[in-house]
Amino acid sequence: MTQIAGKDIATPTRTREILEKYGFSFKKSLGQNFLIDTNILHNIVDAADLDKETAAVEIGPGIGALTEQLARTAGKVMAIEIDQRLLPILADTLSPYSNVEVVHGDVLALDLPALFAEKLAGYEKISVVANLPYYVTTPILMKLLESRLPLKNIVVMIQKEVAERIAAKPGSKDYGSLSVAAQFYADTQIAMIVPAQVFVPRPNVDSAVIRLQVRDKPAVEVDDEDVFFRVVKGSFAQRRKTLLNNLMNGLFLKEHKDQVVQMLEDIGIDPTRRGETLHIEEFARLSNESLRRGLIHK
Ligand code: SAM
Repeated sequence: MTQIAGKDIATPTRTREILEKYGFSFKKSLGQNFLIDTNILHNIVDAADLDKETAAVEIGPGIGALTEQLARTAGKVMAIEIDQRLLPILADTLSPYSNVEVVHGDVLALDLPALFAEKLAGYEKISVVANLPYYVTTPILMKLLESRLPLKNIVVMIQKEVAERIAAKPGSKDYGSLSVAAQFYADTQIAMIVPAQVFVPRPNVDSAVIRLQVRDKPAVEVDDEDVFFRVVKGSFAQRRKTLLNNLMNGLFLKEHKDQVVQMLEDIGIDPTRRGETLHIEEFARLSNESLRRGLIHK
């Protein structure tokens, strides 16, 4: 068989050659939509602001389209791939790049802090750059953020609708607990909207690249993160209800209603507002004060 390393992987012709050479068939259940447009890849890599002092972590390298662009720009690339069938293909397509290490595994099951310590020792700047499998976008992003990994930024292709929710501001229709959770850990921005024709096979949703600039410390100071996130989730439980109704429906004891109303007034939040109008600072105030007044427990 011919050696097919050398040209850019992400062209329709080269991708077809590679898939045919290995008789590879896409698994929809693994969210396999491969990128076949080098311009989009360059834009993704630019958005991540990489250099040779930075390590890039890719989740789901596929046949290596993005991986090779990362290898050319970053100091080292660690690429985590769940599908064993792709390992021999990656060994072939990425053979010109000595700074790539492919790890076989499910990113959701791996001990990421341990893996980072083992594989990326010496790198102070680490970016996650990926075209994520869409069936697990949110769990992957939340795992990356909650694991408190030493990340500089996360630049990922995801469903446009999820990107809009992550970047949404208070009062907009997309603002919800995912927006608050992501913005607690990172400054979020949609970098670009991406048409379906740059993938093979084409996904049946619109896509966007989102950039999360990870904060050194969370956006707000909270006494207990678990309580904070419970309050956020509770406040958004039913979007058409008032904040007070949502809070009294599961989060606080019914007999504490007067105290909850009093607390909301004391911290300057109108109980008749809807949860989706609250700013992250207001959620922090609400959760800290609920804890201090003994209305909620760790
Ligand atoms: N990076 C390639 C590209 O842009 O052409 C492929 C992206 S494709 C959208 C998603 C990739 O993630 C696939 O290669 C798939 O096998 C892999 N994948 C799916 N679930 C995964 C998981 N839980 N852990 C690691 N990789 C996963």
